[in-house]
Amino acid sequence: MAKRAALSACLAGRNCRYNGELKADPEVVEKLEESGYEIALFCPEDSCFGTPREAMDLVLTDEGVKALTKFSKEDRSAPIAEYAAKFFDENPDIELFVGKARSPSCGVRTALLYDEAGNLISEKEAGIMAAEAGARNIEAVDDEDLSLR
Ligand code: SF4
Repeated sequence: MAKRAALSACLAGRNCRYNGELKADPEVVEKLEESGYEIALFCPEDSCFGTPREAMDLVLTDEGVKALTKFSKEDRSAPIAEYAAKFFDENPDIELFVGKARSPSCGVRTALLYDEAGNLISEKEAGIMAAEAGARNIEAVDDEDLSLR
């Protein structure tokens, strides 16, 4: 049976970024395929909120880290976490998670974290879906750190 990897859908060329801009990375897809991975695509934000949509930031609040929309400050953490849990429940054989660097949903070690005043306090966080992959002990990397044997 093929090994399976989960990949941010925008990297595979799906038009699902918040502003509808393409951000495909054919090299990442090639690397995974050459290494024998079957790819399962995911995009929590498009699935939960549609495209285009208001961008989000990770913000450290009194109640912990939340994904808040940039301007209207709506808390979008719960739907993303629910999408992530459902995705991994339905794909229990995922061995590798490859997330789009710096995304508040998908970034693995590169998501940006702000305080409530809008100051950048970290550039090394896990996005909401990447954190769920980590909680399930799934190997996880940012797209730009993908190096496969
Ligand atoms: S980074 Fe993640 S949430 Fe953002 S468009 Fe890509 S797959 Fe969707």
